[in-house]
Amino acid sequence: MARLVVVANRLPVSVIKRKDGLRVSSSPGGLASGLSACFRPESDRWVGWPGIAAERLSMAERESLEGRLRRRGHCPVFLSQEEVERYYLGFSNRTLWPLAHYFPQYAVYDRSLWEAYRRVNQRFAETVVEVVEPGDTIWVHDYQLMLLPGMLRQRLGTDATIGFFLHIPFPSFEVFRTLPWRREMVEGLMGADLVGFHTYDDALHFLESVRRLTGASDNVGRITWEGRVVTVDAFPMGIDVDRYAGASQLPEVEEQLRRVRQQLGATRVVLSVDRLDYSKGIPQRLEAFELFLERHPQYRERVTMVMVAVPSRTEVPAYQALKREVDERISRINGRYGTLGWMPIRYLYRSLPFAALAALYHVADVALVTPLRDGMNLVCKEFVASKRDGRGVLILSEMAGAAKQLPEALLVNPHNVEQMAAALDEALSMSEDDQRARNRLMQQRLRQYDVDWWATTFLRRLEEARGVQRALA
Ligand code: UDP
Repeated sequence: MARLVVVANRLPVSVIKRKDGLRVSSSPGGLASGLSACFRPESDRWVGWPGIAAERLSMAERESLEGRLRRRGHCPVFLSQEEVERYYLGFSNRTLWPLAHYFPQYAVYDRSLWEAYRRVNQRFAETVVEVVEPGDTIWVHDYQLMLLPGMLRQRLGTDATIGFFLHIPFPSFEVFRTLPWRREMVEGLMGADLVGFHTYDDALHFLESVRRLTGASDNVGRITWEGRVVTVDAFPMGIDVDRYAGASQLPEVEEQLRRVRQQLGATRVVLSVDRLDYSKGIPQRLEAFELFLERHPQYRERVTMVMVAVPSRTEVPAYQALKREVDERISRINGRYGTLGWMPIRYLYRSLPFAALAALYHVADVALVTPLRDGMNLVCKEFVASKRDGRGVLILSEMAGAAKQLPEALLVNPHNVEQMAAALDEALSMSEDDQRARNRLMQQRLRQYDVDWWATTFLRRLEEARGVQRALA
């Protein structure tokens, strides 16, 4: 089997510098768990930033860290603090992220950020070229590395097998066209043999941008480009269903469940879980919950919203403003409706470990997942998978990639506060038979299209795309 070289912004480790030396621990984010079925640490390679700025390491520390990482199949790309600020917090998160999520008003177009992005993509290319061997399969991930497929193609030639997957939405051309470097970005992606997205809409948006910017048009998802064929397709990312379905049986989750029940009393629970990001629609969700309490006084003191907001990109101004807004709204609602014995919203501004999150999925009667825009959204899938007895209602934004796979949820427009308030009422009064019927269908689909399906299907399609390429040569 061909060796896999995964390339992503981050290595799946965290490095902490302490007085007695460097501590390296694995930090299996979503991507690492997603790839666990096909990534073999003994032979495969993972190229990425280890998460600590280069100037914080002495030369000796850097060498020893590199050695330790390489033994796990991890090939570090060391970035300076300035590079992280410009390429990651800058161009990736202040230019590409807002554009992809339809927030052009937050997008900054700054030549120096673009140049840093290009330079860092080039640095990644150099590391990949160092580690790659003939016959390897290179799989590049996400918006931080959109120029990389093109750079690798230039260095490695037509024979290299290169796949790219975008984990965030690809916006419609009318938004994408505002990017001054739009053509370079599209050409960067076209260096791959296979370009994958979560949904067909994203794939169509990309094909439209290719056509409008380069004149190249596709034939059922295949574009002929510089003597090669580039395949474009949708691969909705799934989850590890058993991990969530089986969670309530684990002793540490049972312990958490007891605590949560004790703390929340007998009220019914509406759960909200996301990174604190403007794409997640948190202020609108709070407004909807407030309207729901206003319109349906019978639910006061009987329903509690648990809002988990994970701190994210706290150095970026738009995220700081959002944090203030969310804090203010929550205190207003709690001040207005709270009583001595009941707080309408329990707010946790931190990241919860698996057991605590699994306990919340288990106790929640309703999950209110209403991003204004989301590439996929895994939280809604995790909630549905956790509902072993089939009870629980998912209210889901139609703007999340996951909505295409979960039409049995109560789908809402996340800008329509009235509709979300009505959906809360509908969810809390839905019969158990109806809840079970909907969840069973969604659970079957989550099982069929789980995370292993996602990774293996992408890699199989990449192999097929290479076959097309070979037939052409
Ligand atoms: N998550 C977590 N702890 C928390 C909140 C969320 O581990 O306190 C995880 C959650 O289980 C999910 C991921 O973070 O797997 C969020 O993924 P999603 O696709 O929903 O959103 P993203 O943050 O990638 O935009």
